[in-house]
Amino acid sequence: MGERVEQLSLFGSPVPASPEAAGALPLAAAPPDDSRPAVPVPGQTDFYGVAATRSTALAALAARARDCHRCGLREGCRGVVFGEGDPDGDLLFLGEGPGQVEDELGRPFVGPAGQLLDKILLAVGFHREQVYISNTVLCRPPGNRAPAPEEVSACRLWLDERLAVMRPRLIVCLGSSAAKNLLGPDLQITRDRGRFYSFGEARVMPTFHPAALLRDPSKKRPVWDDVKLVRAEWLLLRERPGPPGPGSG
Ligand code: URA
Repeated sequence: MGERVEQLSLFGSPVPASPEAAGALPLAAAPPDDSRPAVPVPGQTDFYGVAATRSTALAALAARARDCHRCGLREGCRGVVFGEGDPDGDLLFLGEGPGQVEDELGRPFVGPAGQLLDKILLAVGFHREQVYISNTVLCRPPGNRAPAPEEVSACRLWLDERLAVMRPRLIVCLGSSAAKNLLGPDLQITRDRGRFYSFGEARVMPTFHPAALLRDPSKKRPVWDDVKLVRAEWLLLRERPGPPGPGSG
């Protein structure tokens, strides 16, 4: 034992007793019902002096969300479908909730609606991997029903945490659940889609859900118009400096 202490001291000062003692900045507040370690803020250094990125912060958040039982949905699904893509891409696509295929594979938008979403993205020049894709609720509602208001509000904490980590400059709400969740209960997707709204620092475009296009192909044209606007706005935003990102202190 004495030998080990001796060896450690050969390689520098002893390990600090706490992250604060190591000079790390404070961590983001944890959700109140969860006692596990908090999610790092992108750009802040951890105990070992390693700066968190949006990806590592989201991975920490996903690990916390995995055990969430804030509503009854978790009982009836295989697991939490957290989201995937590039969190630095400035663009978040927010759907309603995982369907059967998504629940089985643990990935968002990989069933029939997801395949259509991939085509829509490609048609305007986005690869799926360039954007971040997630859902209003992280667990599959049984029978693919729309999530109930209390399920959406229980899951809102995870959305707020994702937004705090990612700070996307553009958000596309796919369908009514996502759009109402961000923009308010009075939003009507057919009436209000197709223009940008503000949500904090982000510009938000509500449009029809790809599943609605599968049921009603006449909705394809408006969605095409909407995603073209999103692409143009994304190109403009990428030319302008955004809010400070990871590492900018
Ligand atoms: N529909 C959604 O809203 N989200 C998915 O991930 C799949 C289908």
